Amino acid sequence: MVTLQIRTTSRSQMVDITDRVAEALKSQGVQNGIAFVFVPHTTAGITINENADPDVVHDILFALDQCVPWRQNGYRHIEGNTAAHVKASMVGSSVSVLVRDGRMVLGTWQAIFLCEFDGPRTRYVYVSALQP
Ligand code: ZN
Repeated sequence: MVTLQIRTTSRSQMVDITDRVAEALKSQGVQNGIAFVFVPHTTAGITINENADPDVVHDILFALDQCVPWRQNGYRHIEGNTAAHVKASMVGSSVSVLVRDGRMVLGTWQAIFLCEFDGPRTRYVYVSALQP
């Protein structure tokens, strides 16, 4: 397993980690199998979406903010970051990607993103793979 360290720079942010995941798989000699990318945090997530038009990332973060406001009557969590926890659960904490001939099988416009919802922080992402 490889651990990636990622420093985020704002409260809400999507960081394209596709190249770093690819490097991690290469360093492990993964040729064919299933790669797992997991974030061990409760206020960050992992997702796959478009990296071609940066407005897509903007709009995803915008829409999540609209759905889950930072402040809202009724939140109880004393730490004050309930919205980040909710967004992390909406997005999920892992993705799986098929690997064929040493390359992740992603669509043309797809990238793997670390989703920061309570930054800036230092985040970790675990990358491992199952090989037949
Ligand atoms: Zn919290």
